[in-house]
Amino acid sequence: MSETWTVLSLLNWAAPYLEKHNSTSPRLDAELLLAKVLDCRRLDLYLRFDKPLAQTELQNFKELILGRRQGVPVAYLLGRKEFWSLEFIVNDAVLVPRPETEHLVEAALEFIKKNLPTGGPVLDIGTGCGNIILALAHSLAELTDFSGMGLDVRPQALKIARENARNLQIDTVTWHTSDLFQALNPETDKFDLIVSNPPYITSDDMQTLPPEVRCEPAAALHGGPDGLYFYRQISAQARTFLNPNGALIFEVGDGQAAAVKKILASNGYSAISTKYDLARCERVVIGRFLR
Ligand code: GLN
Repeated sequence: MSETWTVLSLLNWAAPYLEKHNSTSPRLDAELLLAKVLDCRRLDLYLRFDKPLAQTELQNFKELILGRRQGVPVAYLLGRKEFWSLEFIVNDAVLVPRPETEHLVEAALEFIKKNLPTGGPVLDIGTGCGNIILALAHSLAELTDFSGMGLDVRPQALKIARENARNLQIDTVTWHTSDLFQALNPETDKFDLIVSNPPYITSDDMQTLPPEVRCEPAAALHGGPDGLYFYRQISAQARTFLNPNGALIFEVGDGQAAAVKKILASNGYSAISTKYDLARCERVVIGRFLR
């Protein structure tokens, strides 16, 4: 890259380059990455189209573009991802929060507003960067009895989750390294709501993941041979930790809702319902533990 590159000429080079290398949003990717290098907002680039770039800026941009070319998700390159209109730190120790997971947050809020007007203890299993439980804590900040707990089997993930809690100034959530419920005490750890977006990709599909997804931790993606391992485990074990009339709310993969509803029913949950995402896929499955 020569010294005469400007913001505009660089974007006009980078966008088609990324398009050729399989980015589905090449211009946006290029703009976000250049805004990171220049430490400005994406829209500010439009006010600086003629600005020439320094050598170090060019070098930094080139490294990001090469990472993107290799399929590294933009969120990892930026080190952050927006979810529920909040900014989350992410790195390759955690799954990148997906927009469809906001439907799980919505379903959880709906359950709490209807059934727990002053809040209650909520558990998030496989919390990753903490996006789900922190979105809930943020939305429920007014409720006097809300408390959250985020569990993850990987301490590297919890490190990010804790950092996110600090950044968002949320102190109503505690974090524990735990393989599913293993670190909890069934006598004293009780919840009104348990939520989870567990790993749900089948062993076969793990072999053909797109490059972007392959950058994400396999432990956060792989749900066993049929993708349903964690739904079975969590449904069976959650009963010990749910308060009477509590609920278990899952995000599920495409086409998994029917199987997950069956798993919930066979574990004694009732009033089982689902919610659709914007692509009209059944994305969220809710079961009540009515006693
Ligand atoms: N709870 C996080 C999310 O929904 C991480 C989920 C996971 O690692 N499977 O984005």
